[in-house]
Amino acid sequence: MTSGVVIVGAGHAGSQVAASLRQEGYDGPITLIGAEAEAPYHRPPLSKAFLKTPDAKPQPLRGDDFFAASGVTFLDGAVVQRIDVAAKTVALDDGSHRSYETLVIATGARPRWPAIPGADLEGVLAMRTIADARAIRERLAHVRSVVVIGGGFVGLETASTLLALGRTVTVLEIGPRLLGRAVSPVVSDHVLTRLSAQGADIRFGTAPIAITGDENGVRGVALSNGDTLPADLVLVGIGVEPECDLAAAAGIACDDGILIDHAMRTSAPNILAIGDCTRFHHWHADRPVRLESVQNATDQAKLAARTILGHDEPYRAVPWFWSDIGDMKLQMVGLSFDADAHVTVGAPADNAFSVYHFRAGTLIAIDSVNRPADHMTGRRIIASTFRPSENDAATGRVNELFKAWQAADGLQTRAAS
Ligand code: FAD
Repeated sequence: MTSGVVIVGAGHAGSQVAASLRQEGYDGPITLIGAEAEAPYHRPPLSKAFLKTPDAKPQPLRGDDFFAASGVTFLDGAVVQRIDVAAKTVALDDGSHRSYETLVIATGARPRWPAIPGADLEGVLAMRTIADARAIRERLAHVRSVVVIGGGFVGLETASTLLALGRTVTVLEIGPRLLGRAVSPVVSDHVLTRLSAQGADIRFGTAPIAITGDENGVRGVALSNGDTLPADLVLVGIGVEPECDLAAAAGIACDDGILIDHAMRTSAPNILAIGDCTRFHHWHADRPVRLESVQNATDQAKLAARTILGHDEPYRAVPWFWSDIGDMKLQMVGLSFDADAHVTVGAPADNAFSVYHFRAGTLIAIDSVNRPADHMTGRRIIASTFRPSENDAATGRVNELFKAWQAADGLQTRAAS
């Protein structure tokens, strides 16, 4: 009997590839190995609903009967320590080994940690896993002041949730604006305005030099200007590093992520990688990228299943992402690197607007705040050959023109067939 497919990492990507293999008709053995002692769950709610509701449970990614019904062996709380590429086996932390025909690495990412004194004190926490979210939730009863290090999505989502729960929150951002790597300055400014109105103290160009505390845990955060901010909880939100140590130790090519080709194959035979742990040449941005999103984890997993079944199709999914920060639903489609023109439609004052990003006259990305129709249409536009102009965006007619284009295209397609 074949040793089948072994999947390392039971997050969004790992559990999806198991499901997609069965949907695509794969009938060999599948083993899903996850380090967390938990059935696969949705990560996005951790910084939002899960924190707010004391007895909230993790939201499972699969139904209760998924593993039994699909014949997928799930090993939870099991860490893969080594990959032997020549022997086609993985070694687990309980001393056992598993053989594979095909291995899928879906090990995700781990929080970056500040290299400053006190960063290991009790009460200095990240928000990545259900265990992290539980630790924050359990500590909250004794927390009045929170310092969030880093003005990225996860830090700001958590900051807004903690403000809503009545805590005092200070955000330290080393750069000049919030969400600087991900959204346009208009959106950054808007998020700053609304979070500040919610009560957040947001400081730019500011990094902590030490975290202070005692045997009871964290007490404060010292800044380079001599100030010390009181803190009973410090949330580390300075981004993540791809979890590629396992792959690198096995000799698989890595460079700020496990390097994969258009069909999710790594440099090693019979080994694929998907999700947050990967870096790859992106068809739309035309450059190497590392994407940290549910969309990318899910779509790469679906394609990996097809690669395992013998197809050789390029990854062409439209990149999109969302984030809920207080009363702002941010939705981003496309990748706005190298955009040279930006057109804002709608009004930040209404908490509902979109920014259309153009490069050399071509629409490449849209950031939306509480304008879901722009986002949903944007996904279809970027997947299509429809090219609205900057003027179309400025007059707010992109969605309407796309509808007309689709109707005309449908007519042409019908006429040609
Ligand atoms: P993960 O989900 O991180 O799963 C990887 C798994 O592999 C982990 O469970 C890990 O324990 C396991 N693992 C690692 N090494 C080993 C090993 N050696 N052996 C066994 N198991 C191993 N994305 C969005 O698009 N929208 C959002 O609103 C959003 N909100 C988020 C909020 C939070 C709080 C967080 C943390 C993330 C959020 N994301 C969001 C990002 C999204 O959750 C990730 O992009 C997604 O989880 C990536 O899936 P993955 O399977 O690649 O990695």
